[in-house]
Amino acid sequence: MQIQAQAHSKTQQAIHLEETYGAHNYHPVPVVLERGDGIYVWDVEGKRYFDFLSGYSAVNQGHCHPKIVQALIDQAGKLTLTSRAFHSSLLGEYERYITQLFGYDKVLPMNTGVEAVETAIKLARRWGYDVKGIPDKKAKIIACDHNFHGRTSAVISFSTDPSSYDRFGPYMPGFINIPFNDADALKAALTDPHVAGFLVEPIQGEAGVVVPDEGYLSMAKRHCADAGVLFIADEVQTGLCRTGRMLCCDHENVRPDILILGKALSGGTLPVSAVLADDPVMMTIHPGEHGSTYGGNPLACRVAIAALEVLLEEDLSANADKMGRLFRDRLKELRSPHIGSVRGKGLLNAIVMTHADPEAAWKLCMKLKDNGLLAKPTHGDKIRFAPPLVITEAGIEESIAIIRDSLSVFDEDPS
Ligand code: PLP
Repeated sequence: MQIQAQAHSKTQQAIHLEETYGAHNYHPVPVVLERGDGIYVWDVEGKRYFDFLSGYSAVNQGHCHPKIVQALIDQAGKLTLTSRAFHSSLLGEYERYITQLFGYDKVLPMNTGVEAVETAIKLARRWGYDVKGIPDKKAKIIACDHNFHGRTSAVISFSTDPSSYDRFGPYMPGFINIPFNDADALKAALTDPHVAGFLVEPIQGEAGVVVPDEGYLSMAKRHCADAGVLFIADEVQTGLCRTGRMLCCDHENVRPDILILGKALSGGTLPVSAVLADDPVMMTIHPGEHGSTYGGNPLACRVAIAALEVLLEEDLSANADKMGRLFRDRLKELRSPHIGSVRGKGLLNAIVMTHADPEAAWKLCMKLKDNGLLAKPTHGDKIRFAPPLVITEAGIEESIAIIRDSLSVFDEDPS
């Protein structure tokens, strides 16, 4: 047994363990990572890769950013968790920092992205009853087709992706689905007086980086304001400099009534999410009505301040904007017959394959891996390219060369 195990590579052994003892709820690219630094990760065989997924945009600041890691280490040796049964010396400081940075009265701290989405839905419903006067249990939330807001039972209730919702019912009522990027459909749905909120990703990330038309977000916000409905922006993936602005909504000067953040709020070190809103919304929730054991823990507070400071100190929104333009230009210059379109904002980008083979995107990702760049297909024919925002011009040029060389995989095997 021992001798047999040694005959396999470290990679094979690690994958075998995961497949044997872990639930099969993901289909990872077959690479086993053990180290990260900035834009790079290394596998257990010592091979280096460009990370073009960035932990689904959680590692905007780059892997193991020294300032964030130092904050984590310092605080881990001091106090990690109090629960909200007691005050902590860091919670208020963090709350002041993040609310002042984003310009809201209050923040409600949670852990994962989907918990923050759940929180926003609860807040909107409560506001709908207490402030808007919607009859009890009648509140509705409008969401968009092809959304991705996470995986809880409530959130998959308004998913239109069969792999998210199929055979997980019964589903939670109270959601209306409309097409994304269709302000008229929103206006029509808003005529229902029981609508409390409109939940939207400013760019649909998991759907394959679907960028709405310019003006859609500002029009949507205006329609919501006219109808007395909360505009809820899920910036879990698009926020925190990823699209070349601190928030993706900033591109259209839209201020959400409820702002949802997650992922890069800890720079990829631990789950930290947040919901921001003004008092008329946030103060509708009272002690005991919502919370989480780990939400707002001292470790998270300390790390989140450091993670936000890094975004500002290193002006990562400007870099994401500049590097994103360069990346898209270079991709288009390849004029590859295998790439149908290139789309995105800042460093949240995707290509749509033209290839007839439905496995084309996966095949290309395997070749990219062999050539030292990690990316993952999303929804079959699309590949998202989202490196850490600290990437330099040289890093972009090198990764474009890898993508160009990897596209030859289709010439080798034209199936
Ligand atoms: N919202 C959006 C827009 C996301 O992209 C994601 C995850 O990809 C989530 C919510 C869920 O975040 P988490 O996986 O941390 O629960």
